[in-house]
Order: sequence, then C-alpha cells, then structure tokens
Amino acid sequence: MITPKLFPLLQCPTCRSRQLAVEADAISCAACSTRYPFRTGYIDLMPRGATYDYVSKYVTDEAELAEELDYQELAPPLLAAGVRDRTLRRLLRFEASDRVLDNGCGTAKHAVWNAGQVGLMVGSDPATLFADQALEQVALTQADSRSLPFADGSFDKLFAIDILEHFPIEVIDAYLAESARILRPGGRMLAFSNTREMSPIQPLINLSRRLGRLFVRAGIYDFSREARRKSDHLKALATWEDVEAAFERAGLRPVKVIFWNSLFTTFVEHVLMKLGEAILGRAKGSTKRSQGGTPPPSHPDGVAREIRARRRMRSRLRPGSPTYLALMAVTLLMELDLWLFGWMRCGSYFILVEKRSA
Ligand SMILES: [Zn+2]
Repeated sequence: MITPKLFPLLQCPTCRSRQLAVEADAISCAACSTRYPFRTGYIDLMPRGATYDYVSKYVTDEAELAEELDYQELAPPLLAAGVRDRTLRRLLRFEASDRVLDNGCGTAKHAVWNAGQVGLMVGSDPATLFADQALEQVALTQADSRSLPFADGSFDKLFAIDILEHFPIEVIDAYLAESARILRPGGRMLAFSNTREMSPIQPLINLSRRLGRLFVRAGIYDFSREARRKSDHLKALATWEDVEAAFERAGLRPVKVIFWNSLFTTFVEHVLMKLGEAILGRAKGSTKRSQGGTPPPSHPDGVAREIRARRRMRSRLRPGSPTYLALMAVTLLMELDLWLFGWMRCGSYFILVEKRSA
C-alpha cells in the first residue's frame, strides 16, 4: 500500500536530499528533480543513474520467477517460514509504536504476518514480486538496499530474512552500512542467513536427506524448484567469524545468536512434507481444479505437482482447521531444533544486533 505515514521517513535515493514533495501520483525531489512514481500498491524509489556490478536474479529474472515462485497468495506462517517468523517475533519483540523495515522483503510475507503488531511496517525490494496481501497491508517500496530511500535513524527495527547469502561481500557491506544508517541508535536488526559451516550433527541430519533422495529416485518428488530457489547463493560470509566481522564493520553489535541445526527440520522437509506433497499433489484427472487457477503448463512435472500441492494445501489452511493445526504441530517440531541445538555452531543462524548509541 502507499501510506502518508511513510512520506516523512523518505529521502531521495538518487541524491540523498530530504527535500521531497508529495504529488498526486509521485514523490518528487526538489534537489535533483527526479520523480518517483506511485505504482499499484507501492512506490518506485529505485536510485536513478546508478550502475551496480551486482544485480539480484530476482530482478534480472523477475518475469520468469514470478510464475515459478507462485507468490501472489500467501499461506499462513507454517513450517520453515513459520519457524523463521516465530523466531523473528521472539527476538525482535515488536511493539505497537515500532517503525519496522523488512529489508529485501521479496513477497513481503514476514511483513504481512507482523504488520498488525507495529505502528508502521515497510517492505523494500528491488524486485516487485509482492504478494497481494502485502500490496494491501504493507507500505511497499521498490528500492535498492545499497541506497535506501529512507532518512537516517528512521526505523526502530529491521529484519533481513534469507538475504545475506545472496550477496558478494561488497554488497553485504553496503547493505549492512545502509541498514545501520536507517536504524535509530539502539535500534535492532535481526538477520537470518547461513554460512558454509557444517553442523556437528550433520551425519545425523544427512540420514533424512538420504531418505529424501530415495523418493527422488522413485520419481515421487522433484527438487528442481527448490534448487532453483537456492541457485544464486554465494555465501560470501563463509564462516561465523566472517559474519561477526561484517556486522562489526557496520557498527552493529551482536546481542543474541541462535543456530539452526536442522535435525527435526530436515526430517520434516525431506521426508514428511515431501511425502505429503506427493500425495496431495497428484493430478486428479479432469474432475476438479484447485482454487488457485490452472497450474502453469510449461513446468516440468515435479514443479507443477508441487505448485498444485501448495495451492490445494493453502485452501485447507484456515487457522483452526485440522490441516492448519497439524502443520502447526510440525512447525513446533521443527522449532525444537532451535531450543535443543541453538547453542551449537553451524551454518544457519539467526543473529540479533543492535546499533551502537552515538
Ligand atoms: Zn534527489
């Protein structure tokens, strides 16, 4: 959505001036004369005239990914996304007065799920694959994280879920520096990402992966969609020391860390859910179409099947329904990994950091 609450926080992403005028269908900068047009549900606040070496694949392949990611309709926060969201809330402790930025929001699902708890929820992403609910409930900006369209100290909290692993190191530094700039002193940021480090219990975790691969060989499930999703992971922060050093460079002090050794999680994802998807996703001849419309015909079988399963699933996911409660139980089982093994250093991590007070 486009809300006047956002306007006082804005600065020109091109020249960094704060002399902005709100027009009927755009924000315009008095200093450099750039106009930032209102689109449907968001404002185009991309810096003009900037050239960057690195461009996210979500920007370059937006059209292609739009179809594949099946992003318009959000499911409730369950499974791995549910664990991320519950941990996000637990660590950031949203308050009704908070101004919060989902920095690199993607569909803006975490912003949607938490918008009701805070004063102003803003989502920012260079790609505009925003979910329908986000277009209605979250103040959305199309923006580049290296030159954010927000004034210094604008936000109390911000979060970066599944972001840092995509960037080369100079982009990580620019991203964290900009994040620190727009946080108020004492403001907090939560990041979820992963390094290249292995879990000490990796051999145990791999048992589930091996089981999962048996299904692939048997043709039950296709991992290609998942592989595509992770295809641009660089993991430039390769070790935990790299992570700490990067936040340190940006003036962000670690407050709490939780590692995600995915013992239960991998079992759920690679065995339990894949079986469920295989069963739910089987095409049912011509009798019924799911509510989400026709599945894209151009995809390989496994992808179409997975999307079909997800759509069928979503229609059963009203909070309180049996399917919802069952998946919530599975979500809590996955979260058990954090409670039991959160102290054990491994690749996946949640880190809560605080901006130093002047
Ligand atoms: Zn300007």
